[in-house]
Amino acid sequence: MGIIGAGPAGLLLSRLLQLHGVDTVVLESRSRDYVEARVRAGILEQHTVQTLRDVGVGERLDREGLPHDGIYLQHPGTRHHLNFEELCGRKVWVYGQTEVVKDLITAQLDDGPPLLFGVSHVTPEDVDGGAPRIRFTDADGVAQVLECDVVAGTDGFHGVSRPLVTAGTSGRLWERTYPFAWLGILADVAPSADELVYAWHPEGFALLSMRSPSVSRLYVQVDPAEKIEDWSDDRIWDALSTRLAVDGWSLRTGPVTEKSILPMRSFVSAPMRRGRLFLAGDAAHIVPPTGAKGLNLAVADVTLLAQALVRLLTEKQTDLVDTYSDKALARVWRCTHFSWWMTSMLHRHGDDFDAELQLSQLRRVCSSEAAARELAENYTGLAVDL
Ligand SMILES: Cc1cc2nc3c(=O)[nH]c(=O)nc-3n(C[C@H](O)[C@H](O)[C@H](O)COP(=O)(O)OP(=O)(O)OC[C@H]3O[C@@H](n4cnc5c(N)ncnc54)[C@H](O)[C@@H]3O)c2cc1C
Repeated sequence: MGIIGAGPAGLLLSRLLQLHGVDTVVLESRSRDYVEARVRAGILEQHTVQTLRDVGVGERLDREGLPHDGIYLQHPGTRHHLNFEELCGRKVWVYGQTEVVKDLITAQLDDGPPLLFGVSHVTPEDVDGGAPRIRFTDADGVAQVLECDVVAGTDGFHGVSRPLVTAGTSGRLWERTYPFAWLGILADVAPSADELVYAWHPEGFALLSMRSPSVSRLYVQVDPAEKIEDWSDDRIWDALSTRLAVDGWSLRTGPVTEKSILPMRSFVSAPMRRGRLFLAGDAAHIVPPTGAKGLNLAVADVTLLAQALVRLLTEKQTDLVDTYSDKALARVWRCTHFSWWMTSMLHRHGDDFDAELQLSQLRRVCSSEAAARELAENYTGLAVDL
């Protein structure tokens, strides 16, 4: 099994397959240091946590991860707690994607199959036949060929795999680019709330999140054309303090250690398979981060894919690989809708009419148990196989 990309999807797929006796080789174009330092997602659904425990990499997560019973939803004057445990019997965990990736890399390098960093010119070939291969150049500049039974394209949005699937199938792409972006910071300061705060505000959305008891992760909605150089730390803290304000509460500030602007888009590519090349994670779909779904979707994809590949490679049965794309896409579209819905409800866009519709929806979620439960079930994660 050749796996292209050592993000969460590729690393977890390798681990799942290794535990079922399938040999894998993971090819990653970046260095280990780069991959382990890339700050991205930080909220894990219950099924993601259980999957990481099941494959033997849950020990540090259970020690250092922060279980959260719910989130706060805010609009001016009101901060309302949604208790997921009470609404649907599930919770979420705060544990950075960087930490998930570090744990998976350590496991892979300790006792697992090969993981090659710094490769280039990665080119899958003959994926329509029964014996595909991947040509690549290793970190020493030597041209190599990996002969394999199956190729997994877990190489993210800018990888080489999806264009190959699109070119060889009568596939379709759907895309929505949002007229706003997130300016995100990491700061060495204890979080100012015990759980995440999602705040609607006339000046734009803000999110208070965290990575640990001493590190805060915060975001403000900005125009996608904004330049990070124009946002001093003071300006960011001012915007956060204004948008997150509520009576009797104040925002703790501290040294900013990272800041960046993240454009927001929804993107789905179907099918997620061409012959013996299978896509999973961001290689096939992107969601805006408002619903905290990107990393969790990648985990759900590879959970389904691993089951299908084990059946193909050890039992020679094609039934699960034949249904993989449709099953994965059913969940992808559910999460795409949820992420779009959260994004549309919470970000300022349009005119005053749109603002009143957003506020009406927020009040409904905060006052109706049925509406709150719908959010809770989606946020904490639906079944992997819908
Ligand atoms: C800047 C940013 C911020 C984000 N913030 C959040 C957030 O706050 N909350 C949230 O829920 N989600 C967030 N996400 C989404 C989440 O991080 C992704 O959904 C998740 O990383 C998907 O994992 P993946 O393994 O599918 O892809 P990736 O993590 O992108 O991994 C793909 C890997 O493939 C490698 N690769 C690419 N091309 C090649 C090639 N040709 N050959 C070999 N290797 C290759 C890449 O270097 C990378 O290591 C964010 C994403 C980005 C980009």
